Amino acid sequence: MLLLLAAITFTSSFEGGALGRVERAGPGHYRCAVPGQSDQDNRNRQASWYAFRVDDAAGKRLTIDLVQLLGEYNYRAGTHAVTARTRPLVSTDGTRWTHLPESAVEWVEAGPALRLKLDVKTPRLWIAHQEPYTNARLAALAREFAANKSLKAETIGKSVEGRPLFLWTIHDTGAGGEPPPAVWLMFRQHSWESGSSLAGEGVVRWLLGATAEARLARQRFVWKILPAADPDGLAHGGVRFNRNGYDLNRNWDLVLPDKTPEIAAQKQAIFHWLDEGRTIALFLSIHNTETSEYLEGPPVEFAPRWFALLRDGTTFHPSRPDYTVMTATTTEGKPGRMNVAQALWRERRIPAFLMEQRVEFNEKLGRYPVAEDRLSFGAGLAQSIVKLFAQER
Ligand SMILES: [Zn+2]
Repeated sequence: MLLLLAAITFTSSFEGGALGRVERAGPGHYRCAVPGQSDQDNRNRQASWYAFRVDDAAGKRLTIDLVQLLGEYNYRAGTHAVTARTRPLVSTDGTRWTHLPESAVEWVEAGPALRLKLDVKTPRLWIAHQEPYTNARLAALAREFAANKSLKAETIGKSVEGRPLFLWTIHDTGAGGEPPPAVWLMFRQHSWESGSSLAGEGVVRWLLGATAEARLARQRFVWKILPAADPDGLAHGGVRFNRNGYDLNRNWDLVLPDKTPEIAAQKQAIFHWLDEGRTIALFLSIHNTETSEYLEGPPVEFAPRWFALLRDGTTFHPSRPDYTVMTATTTEGKPGRMNVAQALWRERRIPAFLMEQRVEFNEKLGRYPVAEDRLSFGAGLAQSIVKLFAQER
């Protein structure tokens, strides 16, 4: 009898895939490097994204150590995005994802490493830090609503590698009067933060819904949506820098069209709206981080009320008691260190905010956040904005 023993293989050759060097440490035991990404000066390495597939391990017990986790954040060394409380997700079909149970994950301080203990039951097993959200998934969403008359999609520029930068406008013409203000929402400045895209999809699905509330929201505001600020990063499984190594949520105080064409195009689209005499009621960019969840922005009158609406009416579970007034820059005295909110507020007094949403356990949800939670947040976010400005009238 001939036994064909297929070797276990690891691959990240798919959209959004990311995996570094793989070494065999013993029988059924592999060390898998998290590739991470560094900036244009080879600083600020962050290793917060891995997405790969294990093939031909069905019936085996595998130990996978995720290694090379250490990095640097805002020039502070020794940080690591993967922690003892990280729960990677797995999928047997590449579509439906579930968090690994606590018993399958162990933190190894020496290294450090996150050890995954897997009883593999299927020929293919996908593993990722968060549920992936690719350009293909975004394109499917756009196709789903292509015939919807309330949605207009345009391309405002191209990424470093020539991918289109989309701007979606959701609006229904109302009864006339003053031209409505824009609500400007930005997603996925950092490509590892796939939860940001799920929140964005939640916003879009709610706004394009048939409810009276959504219809009113479409009439009252022009919703401007930048669904993927770094499409190259989504394609390559990047972390937080564009293909030239530039952080797309820094560098907003500089306009470097050759280095950061993404920022140049986004900034131009936003300022063009203002230059046409229109207004922006608020701007928000949504991010993910490991343990904290917060809203920060400029010292505008409505911010504390919006924070309360989000805290009380959505899945938002802030780790800070109040909304935070942002600083002028992330790194004092160094050019190229302003984030989008800091620069939009400084240059044009746009009430621009950033929100971080946690990846790790969320006590308000009673679980690690899943796709449904992000989608539901998006719906709640749009409603919170409508409520906020309805109160103001
Ligand atoms: Zn981010």
